[in-house]
Formats: sequence, structure tokens, C-alpha cells
Amino acid sequence: MSDTLNLFSLKGRRALVTGSGRGIGLALARGLAGAGAAVVINDRDEQKALAVAMGLRDEGFNADVAVFDVTESAQVSQAVDEFEDRVGTIDILVNNAGIQRRAPLENFSAADWNDLLRVNLDGAFHASRAVARHMLQRGRGKIINICSVQGELARPGIAPYAATKGAIRMLTKGMCAEWAGRGIQANALAPGYFATDLNRALVDDPAFSDWLCKRTPAGRWGHVEELCGAAIFLASSASDFVNGQTLFVDGGLTSVV
Ligand code: NAP
Repeated sequence: MSDTLNLFSLKGRRALVTGSGRGIGLALARGLAGAGAAVVINDRDEQKALAVAMGLRDEGFNADVAVFDVTESAQVSQAVDEFEDRVGTIDILVNNAGIQRRAPLENFSAADWNDLLRVNLDGAFHASRAVARHMLQRGRGKIINICSVQGELARPGIAPYAATKGAIRMLTKGMCAEWAGRGIQANALAPGYFATDLNRALVDDPAFSDWLCKRTPAGRWGHVEELCGAAIFLASSASDFVNGQTLFVDGGLTSVV
């Protein structure tokens, strides 16, 4: 491989992707593994995590599991510490676990608001803190926070989700402020619209799909595999002087009105 391509190689690195049992998280785990990383599948359900890791191993990749709920601070720290002791270093963390809840803001339930904050924001904090403590000791590490176009643009019905993704952008800058001088690069990857379970209501709505394809300069939904190039870049040495940024992978959506 040429020296330039080597910059993007993840050989010898290990990446933990939260919420990687399905959807974007699984696609990112597979993409990082394809670039040479050993990957750690995270899910709340041990059997599911093991089955997904087994599937990746059948594809020829190196895959382990770490079972935890990102909302449970102590559980996250314990699982990360135990993993580092038992298996080895986590060099790359992708904070991907996330949920969506839809309702008019004036009717939004406090329970749904709390769920969104706990998974989308608290979860990224808990996992980052647990992993960064180890990365800081080594003086190197990569953190990728999965944001959204809703970190930049609001839409009716999902104001609380947008608030969590706006907060993730600022948490990313905060990580840069605190950790850039100690060897960690923390960046956000902001997907546009991708057809996953999280967006099932939109995928199943032809009127929305029609609107989205007209609104997106690329003229279509994204394919989850199309997020992998940006993730590999942000996980690799190619991005060693990139910090605190948000990289939109959205078919041009946030650049054009
Ligand atoms: P998804 O298909 O619904 O998958 C969400 C994943 O998060 C699942 O693996 C889920 O596990 C996991 N998860 C949820 N709560 C968790 C918890 N408390 N602890 C650990 N894992 C948990 O969603 P997705 O579309 O792939 O979304 C992944 C990320 O991309 C989210 O942060 C989302 O906001 C972001 N995003 C998605 C889009 C899009 O178009 N799809 C666009 C922009 C940003 P279970 O299977 O156990 O529920």
C-alpha cells in the first residue's frame, strides 16, 4: 500500500462502536473493520452482540463484544475498564447509539424528552469519559460522535432530538478544547437521511420521501455504507490535525436551501 493510503489504514487499531447491533452502527463497524480495525460490537443484549460479532468474524473480520447500556454510567465504565483489562486497548470510539421520538413540541412528553437526552447525549458523555480516561493515559485516541443534519437544521416534530444533536456538536468542541493537547482527536460525523429503523416512519411515507429527494441536492436517500469513508478518515491518522469539527455526509442537504 502507498504511504498515502497507509494514512487511512486502521490495522493494529481497535474501534468500539456503541449501538452497533444494527443500522448505522453496524455499517460503521463493518466499514472500520474493512479498513483493518478490530471492532467491538456494543449492544444491551449480549446474545445479539455475540451474534453480530460472529457474523463479522464469518466475513473475515476481527470482532469482540462489549455489553452495556449507554445510559448507565457505572455499567459503561465497568464494561470499558473490564474490556481494556481483558482484551486490550480501545483506540477509536464511535458514539453512535441513538433514538428518535416524534411529537409536536407542546405535547412532547417529559418521559420522551428524558429518554432522548439520556441516550443521545448522556450516552455519548458516559462512553467518552470511560474510554478517554484510558486514551489520555496513552496520549492518543480518536472519538467520533454521530451527530445529524438536525445538529444544524431543525424540523417540526423533532425539536428535542435536534437539541440533543446540537449539544453533541458542542460536546465535540468541548472534547477538543480539553483533550486535543493530550493526543485525542474528537470530531462529529453528521449523517443526512439514511433509511434505517430510526427513520422507519419517514421511509414508509412516500410524500416525505418525495420531498426529501427534491430537498437533497444528491436527489436521494443515503446508503449507510456511504458513511464509512468519512468514519475511516476521522478514525485514521489521515485526520491527525482535524479536531472539533463536524463532517456532514448528507448529499449536500445542509449546503443548499
Ligand atoms: P437505529 O437503526 O434505530 O439503531 C440505533 C442503535 O442504537 C441500535 O443498535 C440500538 O440498540 C442502539 N441503542 C439505542 N439505545 C441504546 C442504549 N441505551 N444503549 C446502547 N445502545 C442503544 O438508528 P440509526 O439510524 O442506525 O442511528 C444511529 C445513529 O445515527 C443515531 O445516533 C442517530 O441519531 C444517528 N443518525 C441517524 C440518521 C439516519 O438517517 N438514520 C441520520 C442522522 C443521524 P437496540 O437494537 O437494542 O435498540
